[in-house]
Amino acid sequence: MKWEENVRKVVPYIPGEQPRQAQIIKLNTNENPYPPAPGVQKCVAALKQDKMRLYPEFPEQTELAEALASYYQIDKDQLFIGVGSDDVLSLAFMTFFQSEKPVFFPDITYSFYDVWADLYKIPYETKALDEHFCIRPEDYRQPNGGVIFPNPNAPTGVLMDVGQVEEIIEANRDVVVIVDEAYIDFGGTSCLPLIRKYDNLLVVQTFSKSRSMAGMRIGYAMGNSKLIKYLNDVKYSVNSYTLNYTSLQLGVESVKDVAYYRETCEKIMKSRDRAEEELSKLGFTFPKPYGNFIFASHEKVPAKEIYERLKDNDIYVRFWDKERIRNYLRITIGTDEQMEALYRALREIVKA
Ligand SMILES: *Cc1c(COP(=O)(O)O)cnc(C)c1O
Repeated sequence: MKWEENVRKVVPYIPGEQPRQAQIIKLNTNENPYPPAPGVQKCVAALKQDKMRLYPEFPEQTELAEALASYYQIDKDQLFIGVGSDDVLSLAFMTFFQSEKPVFFPDITYSFYDVWADLYKIPYETKALDEHFCIRPEDYRQPNGGVIFPNPNAPTGVLMDVGQVEEIIEANRDVVVIVDEAYIDFGGTSCLPLIRKYDNLLVVQTFSKSRSMAGMRIGYAMGNSKLIKYLNDVKYSVNSYTLNYTSLQLGVESVKDVAYYRETCEKIMKSRDRAEEELSKLGFTFPKPYGNFIFASHEKVPAKEIYERLKDNDIYVRFWDKERIRNYLRITIGTDEQMEALYRALREIVKA
């Protein structure tokens, strides 16, 4: 059809499956297996129907913005809130990567980055991780149009220390460097304090993983107030009322309950220690995990086969049929009960 000539054609990101059956064990999208903070439930009951009639407040003027700014001890104008970090990151691509030079990111990383680059027609170049799946900071020293990487990286779970992150920022003072910290709360150290030192650093985090609120779609970016202003200008050119009333209200309750959130992360980290032991015993190898997931490969059984047989057992994990990682599975850390069911199934599958 003639009109198709003028259509924007993209290869979309493929999200993890969201099966509808209730019985499955879902370890495929790094959701948190525990409920959100107790205050969130109470807040649901207190939501005001009359407020739903109105457009929501602008995210940066809400109690949620105040709560986050106070939690991270930053100013409100150093904070941008969006509809999940995917929204924040996509806007950041649109806002900050306007150079003709290529944006740099790792060859194995969050598979949305190349999708956004293609969508916005941003040139990019991937930098190969080393054989241990580590980012090599020296690869990010050539001229470029911006840099983005997750820390810990996804789907590998490999963490860079703050010193190495700073090395990359230091070498790229003339472009914007985005650090996607979706999984930083599971044992890593955030590079957030560096936003005071580097006006070109944007740190992005989310409520989806450590705060058990993937369904509410809340993400945020922190950085120099000028970066935030540019981000807001683009945002207000696309959609002004972004976060809905419910998410704005419930988010506050989550930020307030620091103890609950720390406790949940600790629980997941403990189950992750246990998963490292169990999976090793079963013949899996993996880089040391720093997210709420393990990126594991089996010595004998191909990843695809394990993935399919787990699915037959109603256990969903993530598999990518992609160069360099097609023999790996990304397994989200679930509750101890879910993990036990996983080990039982794996014992059968990898049995010699
Ligand atoms: C999960 C994830 C995100 C997106 O999370 P939202 O649910 O959109 O906040 C961003 N980056 C990485 C690396 C992720 O794994």
